[in-house]
Amino acid sequence: MKIEDYKLFTIGPTQMYQSTLEVRKHVVPYFRTAEFSNLMLDNERLIKKLQFANEESKVVFLTASGSGAMEASVINCFDGSDKLLIISGGTFGERFEKICEIHNIPFEALKLGADEELKASHFDEFNNKGFTGLLVNIDETYTGQLYDINIIKDFCERNDMYLVVDAISSFLADPYYMEQNNIDVTIVSSQKGLCLAPGLSIITLSPRMVDKINKIDVKSLYFDYKDYFKNMERGQTPFTPAVGVCFELNDMLHKIDEQGIEDRIKEVKDRCDYFRGRISSLPIHLPSYPLSNAISPIRFEKDIAMDFFVYLKDKKHIMVNPVGGELGKRSIRVSHVGDLVNDDYDYLIDEIKKYFEM
Ligand SMILES: *Cc1c(COP(=O)(O)O)cnc(C)c1O
Repeated sequence: MKIEDYKLFTIGPTQMYQSTLEVRKHVVPYFRTAEFSNLMLDNERLIKKLQFANEESKVVFLTASGSGAMEASVINCFDGSDKLLIISGGTFGERFEKICEIHNIPFEALKLGADEELKASHFDEFNNKGFTGLLVNIDETYTGQLYDINIIKDFCERNDMYLVVDAISSFLADPYYMEQNNIDVTIVSSQKGLCLAPGLSIITLSPRMVDKINKIDVKSLYFDYKDYFKNMERGQTPFTPAVGVCFELNDMLHKIDEQGIEDRIKEVKDRCDYFRGRISSLPIHLPSYPLSNAISPIRFEKDIAMDFFVYLKDKKHIMVNPVGGELGKRSIRVSHVGDLVNDDYDYLIDEIKKYFEM
């Protein structure tokens, strides 16, 4: 069996939908055309609609993985005169810290311990300290913790801060309301909840964030959002985008819009609840902090996670997400986004049972 035919319980790339595979069959067309511009303007309209963004928001289609979009957003939105607070509860939070270090943007990290839940009281010591912006991975995919947007929103409003949300794994798995939560930047990527090929990231920016960006002199050619704003007025990007993924995106956004965004999210949540309900009798457990519907970070009682990952991959042609670092010895993650049904989880759970009987 070829590795391209393995069943994916991974968060990205995910198990792709049949309609996406159909789109991928075609020749990738030339893109400096009115037809492609219309497709991109339609993508922009639908992204804003599905994220419940302000009508006047701007959308950047960036050909880069999610980390590229994180870095680009930080350097376009902030500079040395800012002071950022980073919620740092795993490797993706640490990535924001690293980006700010590299680009000399002042920051402090709100560090969470292993298995520690983010609470309103964590913010007490950061009140009225001159912070101008907050960076958060709303689902810290390393641990699977879904942070409470209400707590974060309240803190940002009280301190008059810009709010940047990496929703890369959470968008389309958990409810997401950009304008209502006063979010200034939303970052998503093609290979996660959208279930498309990797390569395209989408950044939605509130009107007041756009104003701030227009005043910042970003030291980058490829990642200068001002250039993307200008080009997007006619539905284009400054450089060759991941054209094929833009077509996959249009197909998927229409599919979700027709289904209804709440319904799509419920579909993910139902699969998630089904899986979590069925594993409760097994010698594994889930952490106690609030979890995203995107993945279940299952924990074993012994250091068998890597062995189990290899067993599923080599013997059963099933891919789950391993976890890097210390947590990785006892934890793997099972995705609930992708073209998966309850039968697929039954199959996975049967394999978990067989493994423990071995
Ligand atoms: C996947 C992911 C990213 C991006 O990772 P890339 O490999 O660069 O696409 C960033 N943030 C979070 C929370 C993610 O889950």
